[in-house]
This record gives sequence, structure tokens and C-alpha cells, in this order.
Amino acid sequence: YPPNLIRNFSIIAHVDHGKSTLADRLLELTGTIRKGHGQPQYLDKLQVERERGITVKAQTATMFYDYSLDSRKYLLNLIDTPGHVDFSYEVSRSLAACQGVLLLVDASQGVQAQTVANFFLAYEAELSIIPVINKIDQPTADPERVKEQLKSIFDINPDDVLLTSAKTGLGLAEVLPTVIERIPCPKGSPEQPLRMLLLDSYYDEYKGVVCHVAVVDGTLKKGVKIASAATGQSYEVNDVGILHPELTSTSQLYTGQVGYVVAGMRSTKEARIGDTLHLARTQVEPLPGFKPAKHMVFAGVYPADGSDFDALNHAIERLTCNDASVSVSKESSGALGMGFRCGFLGLLHMDVFHQRLEQEYGAQVISTTPTVPYVFEYSDGSKVNVQNPAALSSSPGKRIVKCWEPTVMATIITPSEYVGSLMTLCSERRGEQIEHTFIDGQRVLLKYKLPLREVVIDFYNELKSITSGYASFDYEESEMEASDLVKLDLLLNGEPVDALACIVHRSKAERVGRELCEKLKKILDRQLFEIAIQAAIGSKVVARESLSALRKNVLAKCYGGDVSRKRKLLEKQKEGKRRMKRVGSVDIPQEAFHSLLRNS
Ligand code: GDP
Ligand code: MG
Repeated sequence: YPPNLIRNFSIIAHVDHGKSTLADRLLELTGTIRKGHGQPQYLDKLQVERERGITVKAQTATMFYDYSLDSRKYLLNLIDTPGHVDFSYEVSRSLAACQGVLLLVDASQGVQAQTVANFFLAYEAELSIIPVINKIDQPTADPERVKEQLKSIFDINPDDVLLTSAKTGLGLAEVLPTVIERIPCPKGSPEQPLRMLLLDSYYDEYKGVVCHVAVVDGTLKKGVKIASAATGQSYEVNDVGILHPELTSTSQLYTGQVGYVVAGMRSTKEARIGDTLHLARTQVEPLPGFKPAKHMVFAGVYPADGSDFDALNHAIERLTCNDASVSVSKESSGALGMGFRCGFLGLLHMDVFHQRLEQEYGAQVISTTPTVPYVFEYSDGSKVNVQNPAALSSSPGKRIVKCWEPTVMATIITPSEYVGSLMTLCSERRGEQIEHTFIDGQRVLLKYKLPLREVVIDFYNELKSITSGYASFDYEESEMEASDLVKLDLLLNGEPVDALACIVHRSKAERVGRELCEKLKKILDRQLFEIAIQAAIGSKVVARESLSALRKNVLAKCYGGDVSRKRKLLEKQKEGKRRMKRVGSVDIPQEAFHSLLRNS
């Protein structure tokens, strides 16, 4: 395949605007998957993706298309991408393999926050952008208004916009011809020595490490030796091919193609995403890679049952092979034992990681209150990065003198009637307004600089409830800013529970402390003695609750003498015990950690 017959493109859009459905239709239209066979959102393979109806991992599929105008067969690589802000890293990575994008917008919802974010990712990567208004079959569709928004925000010419329904098939015939006409072919050179960009990697039970690559220059053949520009390690290519959409061996990949390589790597750690692979013993200039994933949220991940540490270790190792955007280091906690400190791209990413640990690897985990990464400076001039609040300490000789917290630039798009309440929400969250523009007669785009901490925790739900679901929201990282932060400890009978410590803004410490104590009181089982629940900054207690003693007799529920029922109850109680963590003399049920998660 000469590069001029190849097109590489992504589908980008706000969540739910129909990317995965459009991908299905294009795969059917080109005969890559059979119509009516397989499930909808064919490329969403993970169980989490199916259950949540969202795309988490970008997926590539190669299609062959007969273009009627020049009667030639084109090779098209389509990359379906996630829409949620947590996974924008997947999007920017996918764009590195593309020359163009289909920018999808829902015909009734119009331009939303992630539409804006994704547009600018594509624009900054200098890709051709084909605007597509989808879901025009909906009774509430208003394509003219969406065109107006596209014009006013992105300066997109209304005549360039395609109209489709991925549901009924309306307008779909135009999509691939437009891709061929408007998106340039890959620019690499077949004559140059092989250079390819490592886009993604995962571990396959049978094949071992599978790398997704974009061949930028030259040709990749089965049997050659390739080397990593990052590590200098070399490998023999055992298998190459395309994703059609399943792995399909082709023995060669040409300039401009996107495909897979299996090259005897032992672990996905060797397959560094963004690395350049080239022929062994041939010097090449490495390709510009990607900037590494930025971890927005950190949390401790511990085995629900202390003895399972090795099993959890194994599960995390395997899962990080498939999701390299999670950072992992070992830590230990007085309350929870041995575990890990993991860095995530956001709370949804963290949830998905937990769900995958449980579903795909059978691991039961407890996680600690998530935190954003802070920087603290001590009186002796030293600075520390704090990813675990429990690890933050100060002493008279080493006082905290300054702290910084990460901030984000947030984009909110909302019907204008909610602007007032959203401004109140943002100022409660310590936000600073940067922009306020009308994008059409009734919709407003707001830009706010906000502390990341205020955004990752529950902001999205508040925003949705204030605006009855009509506002959308996205953010990108901004700089670290000086802030007045304190460590809030939670004590049970006077003993701090390290796994529940958090860092909060001083102005909010009391309120947060009170809420945490109340919450904990509700969750903790009453035990055989009284429990004092306290929140404290240093030695100063800012909130307090107490839980009175109770003797629990589960068997009281059993009338009569049904032995097997009694045994069942006792076993259930034992099961419950196993899921407890003992802090000093107090048993904390696993749910306590789970439900405190969102609210600190
Ligand atoms: P993604 O998040 O952008 O990948 O969106 P999905 O492809 O998962 O689609 C989200 C929802 O919109 C699904 O319930 C689809 O069935 C639905 N949908 C997608 N395209 C259309 C369309 O053209 N018309 C209508 N009415 N619904 C659509
Ligand atoms: Mg999707």
C-alpha cells in the first residue's frame, strides 16, 4: 500500500455524542464487521466499557474501502477514542497517529465542553478537522443552531459540516469519501529507514506483549530485528499485522500504516508508550513522543483481606500492563497494612481501575481517600511532593512554611439561565473567572481557574444537579499555586487512622471535619464499647462525635431452631468480619473507606 492510498483518522467528541456507534457503522459499511453481528459499540471490548457504556481505551481498526470516484481501494485506519476528561490522554496519543479527525457533535445537545477540549487537541496537532453533526434523526435535533455554534467557537464554515445519523444511517455514505478527500495521506517516506511510533501496548495471554504502532517511515517486515530508541534493547519481530478489527497477520506494515507488532518483549514495561522503534543497528532520529501522563489523583490501594497482598500485587502488575497511565509504588499503612499508592488521571479513571482489578483479576480492594498531589516547603528549606496525606508531618524543628496545590483551567458550557448558580458554585470552590462568552443566543461558555482538589471531588455531580444535567464540563491542568492548606487527621478513640487523613484548605477544615465525623458515625458499626470520633488539625480537635456501645446479637433474628439458618447467619457475620480493618480497638468496615471516598 503506497501512502497516498492510506488515511489515518480518529473520531473525537463529547461523551455520548455517538463516536462508538459511528465507528460500528463505518466498520459495517466497509464489511469489516458483519451487520447485525457482534454487539453495538463493537470496539468497546472491556467489561467496564460495556457496563458503563463509555469508551475507556482508544481502539484502532483497519478498514478497506472502494472509493467510487477513482475506483481505487483505500486503507483506512479508524481510531475510536474516549470522550471523558480523564481519558483525554488517550485522545492526544491517538491523534499522534492521525492526519485528521471526525469531530462529532450531537445535533440536539450541541457543542459541549469536551467538544471544545478535543477540538483544540486536534487543532494544536495541526490535523484536518471534519465537523460532523450526528443524531439528526432525533426530534429535538437542531443542526442549524449547532452550525452556528461551530462557526462562533471554532470558525468552522457551515458548508463544511456533514450531517449524519449513526442510528438510521442517514448521511453516512458521505463520511468516508470526505475522509479520503479532506484528510491528507501520511507524510512519511517509504525509502527512509524504518521508524515507528509506539502507541499502546498490552499483554496477551498467548502472544505476549502486543504493541500498537504507527509506521512513520520505511517498512516493517516479520523476522527483522528492531530496537527501542529509549532503551537500546533489540527484539526480533515475530508477528506483524493489522487490527481488522481483530489481530490479522500481514507479514508487513508499510509507511503510514497503523498496526500491531509482537516482538518478544517480556513485559509491557519494555514497551514504552511514545517510544520510537527502528531497525536494530540503524541510527534514526527519534520521533517526537508524547508528554507523559499527568497524575491528577492519588489513592492508597490495599487488599481487602490482609493476606491477599501477593495476589493484589500480581493483579496490579498485570493490569498496569494494559493501562500504563497508572503509577504505582508500594506503601504501608497502620490501618490497612501493606499496599500501594497509585496515581490516576482522575476519579473516573480510579473507579475504572478498581472495577477492572475486581472484574478482570478477581482482586478485592480497599482504597483510601483520594488526594491531589501537593507540594510543601519546610522551615529547613526542604520541599516535598505529597501524594499521601498520612506521610505529611511537621515538628517544631521542621515546620511547614509554605504549600502549593495544583490548579486547572475549566471550561463549562451551559444554558444561560444557569450562569448565576454556576458562578456561585465556582466561587464556593475557590474559583477565579477567566472568561464568559455567549456561543449562541442561549448558551454560555465559562472559563474558570479552579483548585484541582475542588474539581475532582464531587464538582461534576453538583454542576449536573444545579443545571438539571444541561451543563458540561472539562478541564486541563494549569500551574501549582500557593495555598493555605492543613492536614486533617481523623481519630478513633484518640488514635489517628492514617488511611483517613486528608489535606484541606484551612477555610474548609472545620466543615470537612464535621462532615467526616458525622459520616463515619453513620457507617461504623456500633461496637461493644463507646467510640469517640474526632477530626483534628495537629493537636486541635475541630469536630467530634461519639458512638454509644451496643451488643449485637445476630442470632436474635432467628426464631425457632433452624440450625442451618443460624449457621448461615454466623458465617455471614464471619464474612463481614473478614472485610473489617482493625484500628486500635475499633473495627472499620470496608464500606467506611468506600463511602468516605467522595466526600472529604
Ligand atoms: P460515544 O460516547 O461518543 O462513544 O457514544 P456512543 O456511540 O456510545 O453512543 C451514545 C448513545 O447515543 C448510544 O445510546 C447510541 O445508541 C446513541 N446514538 C449514537 N448515534 C446516534 C444517532 O445518530 N441517533 C440517535 N438517535 N442515537 C444515537
Ligand atoms: Mg465510545
